[in-house]
Amino acid sequence: MRLTCPYCGSRDHQEFTYRGDATAVRPALNNTSIDDHNAYIFDRSNPDGVHQELWNHTSGCRTHLVVERNTVTHEVLSCKPVGPFARKLK
Ligand SMILES: [Zn+2]
Repeated sequence: MRLTCPYCGSRDHQEFTYRGDATAVRPALNNTSIDDHNAYIFDRSNPDGVHQELWNHTSGCRTHLVVERNTVTHEVLSCKPVGPFARKLK
């Protein structure tokens, strides 16, 4: 599988590190429910079809990316930078 980093171009997926589900929502800090925090940390879905994943280009520019990928066909639909340190694309 190849991912296209918006800054570095098309690269083998081995240059990237999978960082988890990009759709998981962290519970609010004032949420004292241990069940909600446990669910955020440990419960994972295993979707088939289009899904958003968080990846880091660890062997490249180290940018975090949201990768939209079909988990059945491995087709990569988009790779977008995310986070406060993401550089603006020209
Ligand atoms: Zn990169």
